[in-house]
Amino acid sequence: MRFAPSPNGALHLGHAYSALLNEKLARELDGILLLRIEDIDTARCTPEKRQAVFDDLAWLGLSFDPPTTRLQSAHFDFYGVALEKLRKMELVYPAFMTRGEIRSHVARFEARGKSWPRDPDGSPHYPGIEREMDDATRKQRIAEGQPFAWRLDVRRALARLEKPLTWQEATDETATTWRLETADPARWGDIIIARSDTPVSYHLVVVLDDAVQSITHVVRGRDLFEATAVHRLLQTLLDLPEPVYLHHRLILDETGHKLAKSRGSMSLADYRAHGVTSTELRVRLGFASL
Ligand code: GLU
Repeated sequence: MRFAPSPNGALHLGHAYSALLNEKLARELDGILLLRIEDIDTARCTPEKRQAVFDDLAWLGLSFDPPTTRLQSAHFDFYGVALEKLRKMELVYPAFMTRGEIRSHVARFEARGKSWPRDPDGSPHYPGIEREMDDATRKQRIAEGQPFAWRLDVRRALARLEKPLTWQEATDETATTWRLETADPARWGDIIIARSDTPVSYHLVVVLDDAVQSITHVVRGRDLFEATAVHRLLQTLLDLPEPVYLHHRLILDETGHKLAKSRGSMSLADYRAHGVTSTELRVRLGFASL
């Protein structure tokens, strides 16, 4: 089991729920609990925010098993090897369109009354006009310093598979019974694998780190359920082991929205400052009784 927060803001109740469920299941299933700090976005994940995460977890009374915390920002070279592998397999291509260009491309298309495919988060699929760009043009545009992202050619990647992609999903939060889910990564279009400003993407590093940390059970929020299709595809392409998954319920605010700092949700530090104890918080989230 692992808890893998991104220290780009303060932890809130949703994070606490995820960490405590991982802790509970590690105990019940006789497993171990590892900590991973997902800080590939080095501009937003500052050392101060990382320290705040450590403070919150210590306050919650969580202890993690060895080996020590994995800091993603210390492993860019390792992730780069996997990117290189996907490049050699010709499954990624440099994509030069900016967000604005994607938007106007889609708008032009939709103005003709046609619908453009969208991913499960509602974002339009990448148009992929560079998929078949010849090598010389690619090299030239890169040499000219044009910003680009490496995107996965999802159709080409799917064509390499020998069997349909699936994963085992827990039927409830006890993680005792499982059902088979069908993974359809094409719903995401050509996802970003690496960017010029962040040398890798969440999707790539999460599968690499789950493998490197020998994670057998990925326990995380329901908001990442759909992304699992992409993770199963990358695991298969890169020959990585397949964990089982439990996507747990999300803690919502009074208006039924996901907790988020931007909506003014209380952070764990706010609860602490208001004199709430970590036991009270565990009780409130259903992990302890008074
Ligand atoms: N870092 C992600 C987050 O904080 C979690 C990723 C995962 O558990 O796969 O939402």
